[in-house]
Amino acid sequence: MKTTFETVIGLEIHVQLNTKSKAFCRDTNIFGLAPNSQVGPVSLAHPGTLPYPNKEQVFSAIKLGLAIDCQINSTSTFDRKNYFYADLPKGYQITQDQTPICIGGQIPIRIGNHTKLIQIHHIHMEEDAGKSIHDKLQGHSLIDLNRAGTPLLEIVTEPDLRSGEEVDALMSAVRQLVRYLDISDGNMEQGSMRCDCNISIRPTGSTTLGNRCEVKNLNSMRFAKKAIEYEVNRQIALTLEGKTIHQQTLNFNPSTGQTTPIRTKEDAHDYRYFPEPDIPPMVVSKSKINELKASLPQMPWVYEQAFLSYGLSQKDSILLAQDLDIAEYFEAFVSSYGQAIAFANLLINQIRPTLTGKILDYPISQEHLAHFLELINHKTINKSLAIKQLLPKMLEQPKLSPKELVKEFSTTRENNSEQLTEIISSIIAAHPDKVKAYQNGKKGLIGFFMGEVMKQTRGQADPALAKEGLLNLLG
Ligand code: ADP
Ligand code: MG
Repeated sequence: MKTTFETVIGLEIHVQLNTKSKAFCRDTNIFGLAPNSQVGPVSLAHPGTLPYPNKEQVFSAIKLGLAIDCQINSTSTFDRKNYFYADLPKGYQITQDQTPICIGGQIPIRIGNHTKLIQIHHIHMEEDAGKSIHDKLQGHSLIDLNRAGTPLLEIVTEPDLRSGEEVDALMSAVRQLVRYLDISDGNMEQGSMRCDCNISIRPTGSTTLGNRCEVKNLNSMRFAKKAIEYEVNRQIALTLEGKTIHQQTLNFNPSTGQTTPIRTKEDAHDYRYFPEPDIPPMVVSKSKINELKASLPQMPWVYEQAFLSYGLSQKDSILLAQDLDIAEYFEAFVSSYGQAIAFANLLINQIRPTLTGKILDYPISQEHLAHFLELINHKTINKSLAIKQLLPKMLEQPKLSPKELVKEFSTTRENNSEQLTEIISSIIAAHPDKVKAYQNGKKGLIGFFMGEVMKQTRGQADPALAKEGLLNLLG
């Protein structure tokens, strides 16, 4: 019998926080500024400088932990992770090794139409290194230390993921979550989120873990999926040849689509972790933790469930829960005015596509939007006309109620339909052959006539009215 294999993946996800200043000093924490312009003595590791923790980083970590049901360590400690690299001025990173701030927890991900819970091992705080640039100046490496000391959270999962698709779903869930919590922009392209993928395989049905390889620093989901696919195939091929998979740290090369070893287990780094002597154990009070808990928004998966329960499709529920401001706005509307499905359609198809700023700055009030939907419901105005003509009027004069605007509107609509009848009559008179063909059964010609009406009205005619008129006059 042919052996089949199961893929096993655990992630270490780095999230760059959007705090004003760096993790252990006052240097600004902004992406994209002139190289080496945000580097004070602490970032440069001048002798005698002292780090002090950034409380925004600590609060961000606790918020994320509370959002996914971690246990929060009210006392946590910092450690030094020592290694030598040119973009690491101190020669070590400050991280949390022994007692990280958050333990356990889980993140729900959506696979097709079921939900899977990914268990989290822990979340710890740390700082980023600087950035080495190897491709700008031939024969030289450039170093930008702006990123040195940037505050990070590292989310370490249990080996619960089974495919590139699940990895993708988890990264999207984390990005959505950190945006809901407003602790990071979650932008993978700018490096605000990256992950290390630990990958192993095992015979299907086995419950022991195989030897894993770790692909470092994946900063796009497309690359992560390719790296996983390549690595799984490589490991399966080795296993089928009867060879052992050696634990390795790998790089993914996007141009070849292959992974290549950086180092093997034998020459793995010994980071010589030890407690950071310059930062005493950090204690966060119960009341502060409770205060942070009370400040959390409702989670995206809770919104999604609520929207489903209002009768929305899964696709629309997901779409409306995507961003917190839209989810809150939609929820507020439904709790005041009901009409969930009609409002979801209006929001998704008409309001959101034309939005230039925040939804809260949308000029038309929710009350007026509710009246607008009522007018359609009560057939005071035809739906497509309401959307094409009444809604733009409401946008022009957001202070006026649609109930007022529709009055002025229905008179112009009558004028329009008289005009429209005139236009249709003249088109019919100008094409006697086509009219005859239509009446003899070539019903597809309705498209031609509609086209003519649209041409003559420069696209202004309401399609429903135009069609009605044409059908009447063509008999
Ligand atoms: P280390 O401390 O050596 O980095 P950890 O046990 O902390 O190793 O694991 C780091 C990451 O690797 C975690 O996300 C974990 O889920 C994952 N992992 C551990 N063993 C395996 C394995 N055999 N296959 C896939 N992923 C694994
Ligand atoms: Mg580890």
